[in-house]
Amino acid sequence: MSELADLYAEIAQCQRCDLAGSRKLTVPGEGPEDAALMFIGEAPGYHENQQGRPFVGAAGRFLEELLASISMTREQVYIANVIKCRPPGNRDPQVDELAACKPYLVRQIELINPQLIVTLGRFSMTYFLGKQSISRIHGQPRRKDGRLILPIFHPAAALHQAKYRSAIEQDFFKIPDLLAQTKTMEATEPPPPEPQQLSLF
Ligand code: URA
Repeated sequence: MSELADLYAEIAQCQRCDLAGSRKLTVPGEGPEDAALMFIGEAPGYHENQQGRPFVGAAGRFLEELLASISMTREQVYIANVIKCRPPGNRDPQVDELAACKPYLVRQIELINPQLIVTLGRFSMTYFLGKQSISRIHGQPRRKDGRLILPIFHPAAALHQAKYRSAIEQDFFKIPDLLAQTKTMEATEPPPPEPQQLSLF
């Protein structure tokens, strides 16, 4: 089993917070293990909890449309959430739930090692960039721990309020350039130092 499959198996058994008692399925995330682009949403909703897959409801369909607008498909990207179980009634995730789930996302990011992370909505933005106003910083890429982070509005917000739709569409158009930029950065990074030869003499 790959390390990612091990992680999914661990998440499926998780009892670290009360959401374990109300979930139907855990929603660990999905996509290629070597995806350069990772989307991180908030938490599974009704359909995700039923199917064990992220973004399979209305917000997911909009996410797929947005991907199509930049000639990409969901199969090319990794999609996850900050928390892996559905909060009852789709309420906001609580502090203890976010803390309990954090180690899973940390490992997931380490294993996939994406060059660009697009945060969907406030909770995901806060996870990476701390408390900020999403209305002020959406669409502005930041560099963190060797990756680019692009905070954008949550697709569900755009479904509910038209004013977010053009913002999310415009922010999405930045993704291809940012991905290209990460490739150039990789190419110009200095090579890792040679391992030191231990002399026996
Ligand atoms: N909203 C999210 O944040 N994540 C999902 O998986 C679905 C809807």
